[in-house]
Amino acid sequence: MKTLSLLAALCACGVAAAQPADTVLVNGKIHTLDAQSSVVEALAIRGERIVALGRFQQVKPLIARKTAVIDLHGRTVIPGLIDSHMHAIRAALSFATEVNWIGAKSIGEALARLSEAARTRKPGDWLIVAGGWTPEQFAEQRRPTQAELSAAAPDNPVYVQLFYGWAMLTPKGFAALGIKDDKDVPPAGKLERDASGALSGGVSGNSATITGLFARLPKPSFDEQVDGTKKFFHELNRLGLTGVIDPGGFGMPPANYRALQRVWQNGELTLRVAFSIFGQGRGRELEDDQALTQLLPMGFGDKWLRFNGIGENVAWGVYNVDNPSEAAREQFYQICKWAAQQGMSLNIHWHHDASVGVVLDTFERVNREIPIWRLRWAIAHLEDASPATLERMKALGVGWAMQDAGYFEGEEQLKEKGADAVRRMPPLNTALRIGVHVGAGTDAHRVMSYNPWVALQWMLDGKTVGGHALRGPEETPTREAALRMYTQGSAWFAFAEQERGSLEVGKLADLVVLSKDYFSVPIEEIGGIEAVRTMVGGRVVYANR
Ligand SMILES: [Zn+2]
Repeated sequence: MKTLSLLAALCACGVAAAQPADTVLVNGKIHTLDAQSSVVEALAIRGERIVALGRFQQVKPLIARKTAVIDLHGRTVIPGLIDSHMHAIRAALSFATEVNWIGAKSIGEALARLSEAARTRKPGDWLIVAGGWTPEQFAEQRRPTQAELSAAAPDNPVYVQLFYGWAMLTPKGFAALGIKDDKDVPPAGKLERDASGALSGGVSGNSATITGLFARLPKPSFDEQVDGTKKFFHELNRLGLTGVIDPGGFGMPPANYRALQRVWQNGELTLRVAFSIFGQGRGRELEDDQALTQLLPMGFGDKWLRFNGIGENVAWGVYNVDNPSEAAREQFYQICKWAAQQGMSLNIHWHHDASVGVVLDTFERVNREIPIWRLRWAIAHLEDASPATLERMKALGVGWAMQDAGYFEGEEQLKEKGADAVRRMPPLNTALRIGVHVGAGTDAHRVMSYNPWVALQWMLDGKTVGGHALRGPEETPTREAALRMYTQGSAWFAFAEQERGSLEVGKLADLVVLSKDYFSVPIEEIGGIEAVRTMVGGRVVYANR
């Protein structure tokens, strides 16, 4: 009703003039992503919401002396991007104290970033690259050597992590951690040696090895965590993100949420965060969830920071375990049932379609007792989801948080699954046809880059970071469909699609002015798009000049 009367007022050019807009954007190509895919030239904001959009004449009556009028000079505007699965809270803690290799095109460029960081830190301070890169992104197509790292930062211990299976330390790094031999590294870890038997600097192992090794590095102080949170969210704003859905992560006890809470309390959040709690203690997942949620009911929070249920680790016994024991399945069922009873959302990380019955059988069992379709449970990853799986998800109202894993891991997927399978990975068009809610994202940051434009480009061309086009046209969405997955598609997972994800009167003014026109540039240029200006709730959170 409110919306209708406001529109009527606008047409009459009467009442509206009495309530001027705070900000008006004019002379743009504003892609609203409303049901009609309307593209308009002007948009007006009052407070945190959009109050009018359309032709310039329609917003003109809202312009008063106090109104900030922004001439877009024909630039493209889209709704703010939302990542449906990013470990953003954890990434933020160390963002101010880590070195970032995301997007570096050569080893030289990556090493220059290390040298640059060394100049701003004290000798002896750690320089940490905690993932987010792959050898395929470098022109040299290889990992750096220890000698290169030492030369780039001769006075600092250096730690460089590749996915969750390998890390490299400089001699200063080994000395600082007291590592001389295989027995000094976490279980299953091995120090790599060259042909002469000398240590090469590499440490190989499984994810427990690398997580354990990382845990031995110094932690940022609370102030550094707060600083990192603000800086990381600003970095995401630079790329047009206005929201994330955060699934916790390894090593994320409640104390690790304090920096985020401090930024929120201070009114300094520039990104909307919906977070779930990741089971930290093996064997006491349900007890922990019950204790933590006594003061944290589903949906608790505000438009900036909101509690969004449990996951991505619901129960250790079925966390990416293709063949769990009966006891583990039963424990998983008990937790899912409890979550359903509490009206709690739930998300789970799963890799292989062949074993996804572990998850879906349990969801269906719970659903027979307590309907879950309103609760927006979700499965993350599952790049090879079959049509049958997607049909089961649709029937349960379970959403699919899809990431661009194939961008970094496509070559691995090709080896593991074969060319026919990767042609339809991930099956984006099939999911949309079946009617599953799909949210796009990255799963950043230890493994993946957080850059949404790299993910969008990959959604459209299926090309890995090494340049191999693997996906076929049958599962390649249109530009608009891909963007909808990255906006309103993801908003659904935070119960927020009525508030954001499209630009319409009454919705929150979360929007991005783009450096290039996403809809018309060649696809290979999409990965290089940035925000010129990002607004969240009508507030400018990023402007590049
Ligand atoms: Zn994840």
